[in-house]
Order: sequence, then structure tokens, then C-alpha cells
Amino acid sequence: MDLYEYQGKQLFARYDIPVSNGEAVESVDAAVAAADRIGYPVVVKAQVQVGGRGKAGGIKLASNADECRQYADDILGLDIKGHVVALLWIETASDISEEYYASFTLDRSAKKHLGMLSAAGGVEIEQVAEENPEAIARIWVDPVDGLTPEQCRAWVEEAQLNPAATEGAIDILTKLWRCYVDADADLVEINPLILTTDGRVHALDAKVTLDDSSLFRHPDYETYDATQVRDARETAAHEKGLQYVGLDGSVGIIANGAGLAMSTVDIVSQVGGSPANFLDIGGGANADVMTGALEVITNDPNVRAIFINIFGGITKGDEVANGIIAALDRVDIKAPIVIRLDGTNAEEGHAILAPRVSDQLRIESTMLDAARVVTELAKA
Ligand code: GDP
Ligand code: MN
Repeated sequence: MDLYEYQGKQLFARYDIPVSNGEAVESVDAAVAAADRIGYPVVVKAQVQVGGRGKAGGIKLASNADECRQYADDILGLDIKGHVVALLWIETASDISEEYYASFTLDRSAKKHLGMLSAAGGVEIEQVAEENPEAIARIWVDPVDGLTPEQCRAWVEEAQLNPAATEGAIDILTKLWRCYVDADADLVEINPLILTTDGRVHALDAKVTLDDSSLFRHPDYETYDATQVRDARETAAHEKGLQYVGLDGSVGIIANGAGLAMSTVDIVSQVGGSPANFLDIGGGANADVMTGALEVITNDPNVRAIFINIFGGITKGDEVANGIIAALDRVDIKAPIVIRLDGTNAEEGHAILAPRVSDQLRIESTMLDAARVVTELAKA
């Protein structure tokens, strides 16, 4: 679950990380009232869960009430990369001397946490990584040992920030590490981490992703959950109890088991197709589950062809085939479907599907062939 900047900053503040004083508001009048309380100059910041707000005109410095009114009015309703601004964060403006980048995230392949720190902050880190990779100092933190003071100092020194920022950066990164671990975050990112003109190190932005699986030990995260903006497709899928992640391609994917669903997404990409989603229907593939899955997929206007990839195990192939046929009778599907059904009772399953085979419903015996056919159909 991703947090808004203001929520990230409120979380950071609990760990004593210096952030600017501010208020979240939903209207122009409330923005001016908040700015009057906070004191000018203020920064008017669009609250949307997407980066690059500054470049898109979603961040403005206001030195008086008139400017604040003007900017709040401009930014509310602004469309930033498809996210329409409905909420603003008004905070005390900072005087910036330098902008840095800092983050902790999980490096799955190293089985460690990865810390990144760069003197080249303020711009997107992907751009720094591409154009100037040696400008990012990286450390891998062992989850058992944690970030030691020695390691943190060496890391900050390697990043070659302004020496005036060294102690402040060590302090903030130590607290950021605590926050990352104790709050069960998958990502904590400060971009920019600034050195102010009066020599303080301060978090000017906050990007936080929390691990949804940790909600049980953070009852207070309910409030974050309530403010989540979800993809309409994902909301519909989750209501049906399906594990669904929306993507932006044209091949709808239904598979049983998360591993198979991921492999299906991969293989479609490999053969040149573009997956519209990840969808794991889990162990059961009865008519109800299959109906729900097909409804979610066909509601996505980008879907041009559907790939049903099932490996029968506990759920037997004949049951799956019956489920698919029943679902086809319930859902009105325009897109062609390609089925690959393997595993337990696959032959019985194929026999059940055989009478329904047509241009609209094809069966392929391997995952690779099915991926190729469905990709062709999606492009047709
Ligand atoms: P993002 O564009 O979505 O990453 O939004 P940020 O919160 O990172 O702000 C973008 C940029 O706006 C920063 O890199 C700063 O250059 C500028 N900015 C943000 N807050 C302030 C502020 O308090 N004072 C000044 N002078 N500039 C700011
Ligand atoms: Mn930023």
C-alpha cells in the first residue's frame, strides 16, 4: 500500500525525522486558512500517488495569501499523469541549499535491504541510475544485524554530500532505517533530502510503501487503507476475492496459482504480447470463480484476447473444463479465448471442451504455443 506524501511525512515525524510543518486540505479556502496559520511563505503541494509533481505544475511556492489562493485553485483538479488532484498539502517553505536522494528498499535477489544515497537528488533516481550510476552510494543491510552506526557513517561519506550535511544525514538515515523496519515498509524514500541554507538536513518529500501483509500488527494503518485510490478493475477483482493486478496491455490472463500466473505474464511478454493483468484464481477453478475472473477480464476495455492457463492438481482438469463451460454461458465474451489445460485429468478436460472449440475458443497443448496464439489474436 502506497502512502500519500503527507501521510509519509506524518509517519516520518513519529520517528523524529525532520519534516516541514503542514496541513492537508481539500479546498481553496481551507488552503488559505491553513497557510495563514502556518505562516508564509508556504509550499502548495498536490497530493497524488505519482512522482514528478513538481514538473507537472503540482508544487508551487506561495509568499502570500493571494498567491496561495491562486495556486491552490490551479492545482486542485489538475490532472497529473492521470491522477486528478483532490487534496493539497500546505507546508512551511524551506530554503534549499542542496538536494539529495535517500531510500531503503528490499533487494530480493541479495536477500538484504538496500540503502541508496546520492548527492544528485531532486531528479528521478531512475534517471540518475541510468546516466550517472556512480553518483549513487549503495549499501546492503543484513536484516538480522540491522544498520550499524559505522556502516551508516561510511555510507554517508561515500556519497560525498556537502560535509556540512554529514552529521544530519547520518542522524536522519538512522531514523529512516528505524522507520523502515518498525513500520514494516517495503520502501521509504526521501527525494529531495535537503541541506537548508542554515545548515539543517531535512526531508522535503516522502514516498512510503507499506507491506500489506503487516496490517495485522499495525491496526492504525486502517486510516491509510481508507484513503487508497485503487484501479477500478482491481477493486472489482478484490471484491470477488481474486488476486488481480491490473497492467496496461491487451492479453487478459487467468491462471491458477501465483507462480503460474506470473510465468504466464512473463511468457506472453517474451513472445511479444502485452499482458492486461495478473490474475490468480487460486486452487479452485469452479464455475463461480471462473465466471468472476472472466467478468473482471472482459470489463477491461483494453483486453483483445484471453489466455486461460490452468495446471490441474488438487483441482482436476475435468472440473476446470466444466467450470469454464458454465462460465462461458454466463458471461458475454467478445474476445477470443485460448486455453491451455494440463496436469491431473487434462485429457478428460480436453474431451469436455472439445465440442466448444471454435475460432473464438482454442485449445493449445503447451504454454508457449498458447502464448503465441493469444498474442497473435490480441494483435489481429
Ligand atoms: P515531486 O516532484 O513529486 O518529487 O515533489 P517534491 O516534493 O520532491 O518537490 C519537487 C521540487 O519542488 C523539489 O525538488 C524542490 O526543488 C521544490 N520544492 C519543494 N518544496 C520546496 C520548498 O519548501 N522550498 C523550495 N525552495 N523548493 C521546494
Ligand atoms: Mn520528490
